[in-house]
Amino acid sequence: MVFEELSDLKEHYLRCVRCGQCRSVCPVFEEVRNETAAPRSKVFLAHMLSSGELRPCPEAAAHFSRCILCQACTRECPSAVPVHKIILAARSMLAREHPSRIRATIFREIWTRPALLKLAAGFVRCSQSLGLVKIGQACGLLPPAFSLPGRLPRRPALSSLPEITPAAGKLTARLGYFLGCSTNYLYPEIARSTVSVLSQLGCEVVLPQTLKCCGLPQLESGELEAVAPMVHDNLATFKRLGVNTIFSDCASCTATLKELQVQQLFSGIEILDLSGLLLDLLDNYNSGIKELNRVATYHDPCHLAGAQGITLSPRQLLRRTGVEFREMKDAGNCCGGGGTFAIYHYDLSMKILSKKIKSIEETGADTVATFCPTCIMQLRHGLAKQKLAIEVAHPVQLLAQSLKTGLNTKKPYDLAGSKE
Ligand code: SF4
Ligand code: SF4
Repeated sequence: MVFEELSDLKEHYLRCVRCGQCRSVCPVFEEVRNETAAPRSKVFLAHMLSSGELRPCPEAAAHFSRCILCQACTRECPSAVPVHKIILAARSMLAREHPSRIRATIFREIWTRPALLKLAAGFVRCSQSLGLVKIGQACGLLPPAFSLPGRLPRRPALSSLPEITPAAGKLTARLGYFLGCSTNYLYPEIARSTVSVLSQLGCEVVLPQTLKCCGLPQLESGELEAVAPMVHDNLATFKRLGVNTIFSDCASCTATLKELQVQQLFSGIEILDLSGLLLDLLDNYNSGIKELNRVATYHDPCHLAGAQGITLSPRQLLRRTGVEFREMKDAGNCCGGGGTFAIYHYDLSMKILSKKIKSIEETGADTVATFCPTCIMQLRHGLAKQKLAIEVAHPVQLLAQSLKTGLNTKKPYDLAGSKE
């Protein structure tokens, strides 16, 4: 359905009875408190766009950009209107009618080519080191959202991890690792933990060095034409390496790949949920687990809890690391991140985030864990802004700390950003 035209979705948006139930769960509406921000308004405007009553103008594009694509509205709708997919289709139509050179360069030219993306990440890091980003922000040339990712690590994960990492002991499975762009460029320490933990638990980890993006940034920005070729290349890469089963430590990548399977675009390969996989492997792990002296809470990423319905196994996994687990209030509420949303609507994003930070703080936990690198980025930003000394970690990093035996990759335990 992701690739359907807005007009193809007519039967879906006509099902909207304007009951307003979607408003009650929309984090954007909750803050804006204006009907124009409500999911049902977007459904209505999409209908008008499709019928030609509304011109595809920049104002319409701005309206549809005010959505985190958290999918809460779709889940809540009693008429089963796939609101977030209608919004995606509207964005795609608007992007086609109003092409943007900058958007096309970023999402179609650079993001689809790993070498160029690596170059771009290096350029950002250099600019950060020279203080140019701070100067740009102080002069108002760069938006405040540029400070969201923090200081980029010197080397992405792919520069320090081999294509094949053998199982540390008896081989139980051979798995392909879909390394997402955020983990690769922002949090290579998560990738190192992922590889080392799976190796310790008896898996041979295959990490293709030529992997491309999963396609989510392109889908969200309406640049759909770029998606299918990347997906095709990624599938061919895994096939060439003889991989039939894959996983990712990024909830957004997994949700996107599963949706692409529904579209028959990423077929013939099994996608595992990492939390469930780790729980299964731990059942057969006999070398002991060290209990962590931490109090941890868990934030449900929209792309894991909402899009894939996975909420129990991440919590079970955290408990297996021996942390004292404390549930936060509204753990399933969005943190306000969501790809480009935080860039285009920084202030709104921060308002949504502040509620999440309050929920985290109320638990008294010293650690908040989550399965999505984008959520990690958002939560770290919010906690730092409020000067709260609460660590944000991926559950696989905590598991790496609690497994007792030595690992076979470099620096697997560091929770904070890489300082290589
Ligand atoms: S909940 Fe569904 S039917 Fe009700 S207004 Fe929202 S989109 Fe329409
Ligand atoms: S996807 Fe989330 S942010 Fe977007 S309209 Fe629906 S509830 Fe609101």
